Amino acid sequence: MGHIKNKRFCRAVLSLVLAALMLTADLTPAMARVTQADIDALKGDAASLKDQRKELEAELKSLADDKSTAVQRKNILDQQIANTASQIENVEAQIANYDQLIAQKEAELAQAEEEEAAQYALFCRRVRAMEEQGTISYWSVLFKADSLTDLLSRMDFVNEIMEADQRVIDSLKVLQTRIEAAKESLEESRAESEAAKSELESKKKELDAQRAEANRVIQQIMAAEDEAEATLEQMNKDADAIQKEIDRLNRELAAQLAAEGKSNQSNPGGYIWPVDSRYITSTVGGRQSPGGIGSTNHRGTDIGRVGYTSPIYAAKAGTVIVSQSHSSYGQYVVISHGSGNTTLYAHMSTRKINVGQYVNQGDVIGITGSTGVSTGPHLHFEVVENGRRVNPLSHGADPKMGYLTGYTLSGTA
Ligand SMILES: [Zn+2]
Repeated sequence: MGHIKNKRFCRAVLSLVLAALMLTADLTPAMARVTQADIDALKGDAASLKDQRKELEAELKSLADDKSTAVQRKNILDQQIANTASQIENVEAQIANYDQLIAQKEAELAQAEEEEAAQYALFCRRVRAMEEQGTISYWSVLFKADSLTDLLSRMDFVNEIMEADQRVIDSLKVLQTRIEAAKESLEESRAESEAAKSELESKKKELDAQRAEANRVIQQIMAAEDEAEATLEQMNKDADAIQKEIDRLNRELAAQLAAEGKSNQSNPGGYIWPVDSRYITSTVGGRQSPGGIGSTNHRGTDIGRVGYTSPIYAAKAGTVIVSQSHSSYGQYVVISHGSGNTTLYAHMSTRKINVGQYVNQGDVIGITGSTGVSTGPHLHFEVVENGRRVNPLSHGADPKMGYLTGYTLSGTA
């Protein structure tokens, strides 16, 4: 009998310990905490991506499925692909946030359970100590009264114990509720994360379908010889116009740097490979045949076997002077390496840098793809030195000068 009362007493003592524990419970180590608000913001972005996608779908529907609009359709498909890729990135970010949120909640739950266990252990230890000492019991406190006053004061003492006891019970209830709430919201977050993951899977399938459609369209263009010739001719015109613009921008940059008292002189050469692949499908001046037909004086070096997700590196340090989308080059970037020296990277699926940005050699400037007039993922890489287009492969220049070596030409392997 006395033991139960003793337990209550020791709980009263423990209530203070517990209260202290409760106060420190929220003082978990500071780290970037993810909140539901972060995920909601991402969901907001996802909604605007969906709106953009609807517009693209409407635009695509308005174009007839024939050769006359094929290039336009390819262009919209490229935008759709970029949109889907952004949606995938968004959902992946949501999943990453959920993972972090779940980890946080698991930590909170573990902490609450730890507190409960610690409290229980303390409680048991106290009870055992009291049993051994055999000292305090409510009954003995009351029965040892030697007067009414004494009895009343003793009863007050018992009341105080009871009140403290009630506080312990309340604290325990709070702790219990916290554990249950943590478990519940953990389960909710897990379910949401699972939903996001299955959405991601369907988005990836969508992306594959869009890529297949884009390839079908470009194959359709290139299947007809006259279409292919016209398209390649247009590409050459575009490339000429683009090069003029590049020259102008490069002069502008030089003037700007000169005004700032900075030198814009640079030596040619000194490149690293702009992708990890060393597989060359077309060289400068070589035959470019996106559909297996047509031939032209190819302006760049095509590097294949890059897929849709490989990083594209700045071949040399410099300032980004172009970062935009074009119907021939697709998503493309031009870096100025000083007066008269530029590199160009085309058909990217994603651009990762902005105009005016300075990039170091090897910085990731984009992701490989097949945007614009391209029959499959590859990097179209152009090098201009002292205002003239050059072959960056080492057979075209001194390898000691930092031209590209160690490649395989398509057809030889
Ligand atoms: Zn090319």
